[in-house]
Amino acid sequence: MAYFDWNATAPLVPEGREAWLEAVERFWANPSSAHRPGVQAKLALEEAREYLAAGLGVEADQLIFTSGATESIGGFLNGICRAGDNDAKIWISEVEHPAVRETALSCYGPGRVETIPVNRDGALDLNWIEDNLKERTPGLVSVMAANNETGVLYPWEEIREMCRSRGVAFFCDAVQWIGKMPFGDWQGCAGVSLSGHKFGGPKGVGCLVMGKDWRGLKLQSGGSQELDSRAGTENVAGILAMTAAFRKRTTEPVPSCEARDYFETALADALGEDFIVNGKGSDRLWNTSSVSLPQFRSERWITQLDRLGFQVSSGSACTTGEATSSKVLLAMGLKEERIRRTIRISGGWETEASDWKALLETILQVRDILIERDESGRPGKVIKI
Ligand code: PLP
Repeated sequence: MAYFDWNATAPLVPEGREAWLEAVERFWANPSSAHRPGVQAKLALEEAREYLAAGLGVEADQLIFTSGATESIGGFLNGICRAGDNDAKIWISEVEHPAVRETALSCYGPGRVETIPVNRDGALDLNWIEDNLKERTPGLVSVMAANNETGVLYPWEEIREMCRSRGVAFFCDAVQWIGKMPFGDWQGCAGVSLSGHKFGGPKGVGCLVMGKDWRGLKLQSGGSQELDSRAGTENVAGILAMTAAFRKRTTEPVPSCEARDYFETALADALGEDFIVNGKGSDRLWNTSSVSLPQFRSERWITQLDRLGFQVSSGSACTTGEATSSKVLLAMGLKEERIRRTIRISGGWETEASDWKALLETILQVRDILIERDESGRPGKVIKI
C-alpha cells in the first residue's frame, strides 16, 4: 500500500463498511422515537456506547457521541471555560493540534492561555507542570496523548495523576492514540477526545469521554440527546461503523515499529547528515516518521512522490495556499529552513515492510529527479531554499 498519510485519515475498514451498510438498512429510524424501529436504533446505539466505554475503561454514561474530535474538544473546552472562574487559566502543551490551541485561545483569550514547553525531541517538560502546580491552580491542563505530526507520545497518565493530586482538571486529546496504541485507562481524565476516521471508521464521527465530575456539561443546546449533553440526532450508522473499526483495531496486536525504524536508518545511511528524523529521541507511535529531507522544499518532495504513487504530507499546514510553518516543529526549536524541507510519513495497520522499502527507494529516486531538474534548469523550476 503506497498510502502514507494515515495520521490525516485512515481508509474505512471492511468491517466498518459492513456495519454502516447494515445500520442504514436496519437502524435507519430516529433513536429518540418511541416506536419499535426507533427503539431498535436506540438499542444498537447504546450497545455501541457500552462497548466503546468498556474498551476505554469508563462507564457508558461518560461517553458522548459527537461529529468528531474537533467538536468534542470545542464543546468540552468551551463548557469548562464557561463553568470556571473568569480569570482561571488553561495550560496547554506547545504542540497541541489547532483544535485545542485555537479553541483555547478563542474561549479563554490569549492572556489566559499558558504553554507547557517541549524540548528538541518534542518531549514535554514535566518539571514545568510539577513546579507550576506547586504554586498555582489552573482551570484546566490539556496535553495530547500522541502528536499528529511527529508521533511523539506523551505521558498522559503521569500528567493526569499530577493534576489529580492537586485537584486540577486534565483534558487529553487522544485522537492519535486511541486505536493505534494499547487501550489505556481513561478514567480520571476530565475529558478525552477521539475520532473514528483515524482508526478506520468513517469521517465525521467521534466521542467525548467526560470525567464523572463533568457529566452533564452542555456541548450543544437543543433536544435532550446524548445524556442531555449534546443535542442533535445521532449519526447511528457512523457510530456503529466507528465501533466496528474500534473493535477491529483494539483486538489486533499493536503493530511493531520495525519496518519504520529500518526505513529511517536506511534513509539516514543514504542521505547523510542532511537527513534528520524529528523527535527521534522520544518514544513515538509505531507508524509515524517526521523527516527533514535534503535541499528541496517539502512541496516538491510531496508532488514528485505523489506522481510516483506515494502519498505523504507536509510538516506544515497550508492556509489559503500559503505555507505556514508548523507550530509543532517551531516549538521543538527547528529552524524555518529545516521545517520547509520536512515531510510527515505515516503508515498504517495494512502497511507492509515492503511498502516502507518501496517508499525508501522512491525517495532516493525523487532526490535524483529533483537534482537533475535543477541542474538542467528546466522552465518551471521551483526556487531552492
Ligand atoms: N486532534 C488531533 C491530534 C488530530 O490529529 C486531529 C485530526 O487531524 C484532530 C484533533 C481533529 O479530529 P477530527 O478530524 O475528528 O475533527
